[in-house]
Amino acid sequence: MSMFKKTCFSCGAKVDKLYEGICEDCVKEQYPPIYEIKPMNLKICNVTKTICYNNYYQEFDEIKKILPDIAKKHVVLNPQYELVSLHVEDIEIVGNKLGFDLNVECKLKNE
Ligand SMILES: [Zn+2]
Repeated sequence: MSMFKKTCFSCGAKVDKLYEGICEDCVKEQYPPIYEIKPMNLKICNVTKTICYNNYYQEFDEIKKILPDIAKKHVVLNPQYELVSLHVEDIEIVGNKLGFDLNVECKLKNE
């Protein structure tokens, strides 16, 4: 950490590091870290309440455990960023779909 803070030209925040004159938050706003989240194709069998992934049926509890790994493979990041953490929350079966919140944290790669 530097004792001299720099001022972001865009929002005025005082930060340690600027990226071409703007702070990391402003970079994230201008260049969103996530390009897209590819469809995960998780299908639910309404009879057995098992979940089909890669043509293989698994119990809901099993899917809950591996969902972060599945999600990681389907999140396409802007190459300027690296993944810090990925959490899957509030997993539930809604009709014949799996509902969940994806919480992705990324940071700019250090050049
Ligand atoms: Zn800023």
